[in-house]
Amino acid sequence: MSEASLEVLLKALRLGFIGEQVERIEAQAVAEGWSHSRFLKCLCEFEHTERENRRLARYLKDARLPVGKSLSGFDFAACTKLERRRVQQLAADSTWVKRAENVLLFGPSGVGKTHLAAGVGLAMVEKGIPVRYFTATNLVQLLQQAKLNLALEKQLVRLDHYPVVVIDDIGYVKRSESESSVLFELIAHRYERHSLVITSNHPFRDWDQIFSDTTMTVSAVDRLVHHATLIEIEAESYRKKAAQARQQRQSAT
Ligand code: ADP
Ligand code: MG
Repeated sequence: MSEASLEVLLKALRLGFIGEQVERIEAQAVAEGWSHSRFLKCLCEFEHTERENRRLARYLKDARLPVGKSLSGFDFAACTKLERRRVQQLAADSTWVKRAENVLLFGPSGVGKTHLAAGVGLAMVEKGIPVRYFTATNLVQLLQQAKLNLALEKQLVRLDHYPVVVIDDIGYVKRSESESSVLFELIAHRYERHSLVITSNHPFRDWDQIFSDTTMTVSAVDRLVHHATLIEIEAESYRKKAAQARQQRQSAT
């Protein structure tokens, strides 16, 4: 038998959580007369659960999702039944990520596109899938900077760590040639390899406002829709409705 203490051995085996709890669990095991295997199983379960929790906390922090936008906090009564079913299906079953499929959310401003994209992202994180959220503007900046440093390919490969990348508000501003080309590079790089969740308030027919030339637009749209779930939200602006309700409450008092 080794001379090293249990504490040292557990540390060397990187079983730190067991190390912290072993005395407490041993006392419980003795008091309740557990079998050896039950004691061992309890220790292993403890280590496993703690590791999972820490991993999820790390993924959640790393995802940089907008805070507080979960699907449980989304009022689906404002959407059509079809939209609701599709979103809930995406959240419940992550096989679309394994198949490297995309999710494209369209609709006017304030109807909950960002909320839904973040909610689906959060649901994937909870299933243990690394996700990274970007506003399109931030993503374009990151990619352009990488291109300037002759490291665009390296940056694209770095993003491969995330099976799901969210690009929020892709159609917000008209992009220059160099801005649209880095976005296109990302779309082409991830095509059939990893998923993108994209929100846009411009329908595809207006996408030549996003990409600077028509050929690039057609190629980007082709790749995005080839394997994708398209969700078009037709609701009225939630922001506007919330503001109206507030106003009504105020005038009633
Ligand atoms: P969009 O991205 O389509 O412009 P957002 O997702 O930013 O819209 O929604 C605007 C605000 O309204 C956010 O605070 C969002 O959480 C809230 N919101 C929108 N739709 C809903 C909904 N159906 N249920 C709950 N909150 C919603
Ligand atoms: Mg938005």
